[in-house]
Amino acid sequence: MATRTRDIPKKVTGGCRCGAVRFVAQGAPDRVGLCHCLDCRKHHGAPFYAAAIYPAGAVSLTGATIEDAGRHSCARCGASVYAWTEGEVELHLGAMDHPNQFTPDYELWTIHREVWLRPVPGAEQFLRGREAEVSPAPQTCAACP
Ligand SMILES: [Zn+2]
Ligand SMILES: [Zn+2]
Repeated sequence: MATRTRDIPKKVTGGCRCGAVRFVAQGAPDRVGLCHCLDCRKHHGAPFYAAAIYPAGAVSLTGATIEDAGRHSCARCGASVYAWTEGEVELHLGAMDHPNQFTPDYELWTIHREVWLRPVPGAEQFLRGREAEVSPAPQTCAACP
């Protein structure tokens, strides 16, 4: 994928709104993406999801969380901070201590993108999930009826 994620800070910190849950990530993420799927929208209560995805070994996590389908929210303030997926940790861009550290490499489920949002310049666009490019079978959105 893009080289864009390579030109980023070597260490990234972040956490929940109250500070009880914290993370530190070392090195560059594997990728940085947005997801417009209805499941992500519902979880975050936001029109899209944005995260930098790291190998699990590059991230240290502290603080008590409530877990739902791999997504971790602060047990105290409820902020959604990160998600676990098969050896990777998705650190939410909105949970990072500083803005403008990453530019998305790709966008998923653009079929559900709000019409007032524009594609991120240079980001790979996927109408549905990333697997759609290699699978001939049309993918369905887990959250769509
Ligand atoms: Zn908190
Ligand atoms: Zn999604």
